[in-house]
Amino acid sequence: MEITETRVSPVEKPSGRLKGFASVTFDGVFVVRGIRIIEGDNGLFIAMPNRKTEFRCPGCGGWNVFHAKFCNRCGKEIAMSQPHDKNEDDPKNYHDIVHPINNEFREIIQSHILNEYQSETQGRKTL
Ligand SMILES: [Zn+2]
Repeated sequence: MEITETRVSPVEKPSGRLKGFASVTFDGVFVVRGIRIIEGDNGLFIAMPNRKTEFRCPGCGGWNVFHAKFCNRCGKEIAMSQPHDKNEDDPKNYHDIVHPINNEFREIIQSHILNEYQSETQGRKTL
């Protein structure tokens, strides 16, 4: 699979660890948007688009989105049994929607995005 286009939008005034967003086109026919560029303790890395999966159904154990009324797997009503004290920012409540299945391809995507990010942000400094 070839990466045919990489677009990066740096955050104008980054205040936290989020430095920008990226979209990547594969083979000229498939685009993934909403990849985040994050500053970690060991440098920049990318986070694939994810969604919050707040709650496991007590009946079947299936993951359900935040504030789901019925389990999307078994149909059981779960709204009333959802805990209210969960930490919404806990990473284990997030699951990637799209992601590479091996580390090798993750590295390829990441290097494309970070290279593009570096040239975007360096270009701005000279303006
Ligand atoms: Zn269920």
